[in-house]
Amino acid sequence: MSLFLRDLLRQNIIDRTDNRVLLIHITGFSHARLLAYDDYVLTQLQVETYHQLVQRVQNGEPLAYIVGYKEFYSRQFKVTPDTLIPRPETELLVEQVLAKAQHAAKVLDLGTGSACIAITLKLERPDLFITAVDKFADTLQIAQQNADNLHAEIEFISSDWYSSLGKQQFDIIVSNPPYIEANDEHLTALSYEPQSALTDFSDGLSCIREIVRLSHEHLLPNGWLLIEHGYDQGESVREIFTKNGLNNVVTIRDYADLERITIGMSN
Ligand code: GLN
Repeated sequence: MSLFLRDLLRQNIIDRTDNRVLLIHITGFSHARLLAYDDYVLTQLQVETYHQLVQRVQNGEPLAYIVGYKEFYSRQFKVTPDTLIPRPETELLVEQVLAKAQHAAKVLDLGTGSACIAITLKLERPDLFITAVDKFADTLQIAQQNADNLHAEIEFISSDWYSSLGKQQFDIIVSNPPYIEANDEHLTALSYEPQSALTDFSDGLSCIREIVRLSHEHLLPNGWLLIEHGYDQGESVREIFTKNGLNNVVTIRDYADLERITIGMSN
């Protein structure tokens, strides 16, 4: 029995958008072609692959790892189990940096992962100078591939937070660090992603404390620090910022109206 594309487009086993991403992956069609050419008859191999991949999605494997990419700020970023999968909330972090960055500002992205923050900043604002660090070599390789694929000029440095940066200073420091508490039940649902990108294996605030504590050595006067954090960490993070001498400290809420990003200015 031949199976038409429209039969698979109409399925209701997995999320509709996920299903389309899978079918695009399997057929190699564009989104527009996928919908316009729905009387396409799938090959036997395509049907088998489809059922295998649907099964993997149903088993909880993130779709982004199955197809090998995730969309962020309308661009495709390669992701592997060495990188966290970019989240829509992090687009808000990018927007905050874009709003704060003066012409030709120097920006540091700590724990860059897929480099979705660094690359998006550079492509949205080619005048910025972006340095991005990560402590894992395998992750930096993916970051560099994304920068090459998307033609973004970024300086990548292998560094455990600020450890390899010497005395370099920046106008803006941005980070989406691991902030999930070690015993948070959400971690089990995120078992496919690199745990070191999700949790500090402690109270969820230890990386944020370190990033904030050393920020004064790497921020130029009146520079901005912007950190993404958990929905319930706003108060603690504001306190860490203020205790470390940052001014104009505020927390910004995400699309779900949850406290998500805290920002502050250096002296
Ligand atoms: N926002 C991610 C989540 O809750 C966590 C990302 C992070 O720890 N930086 O799934």
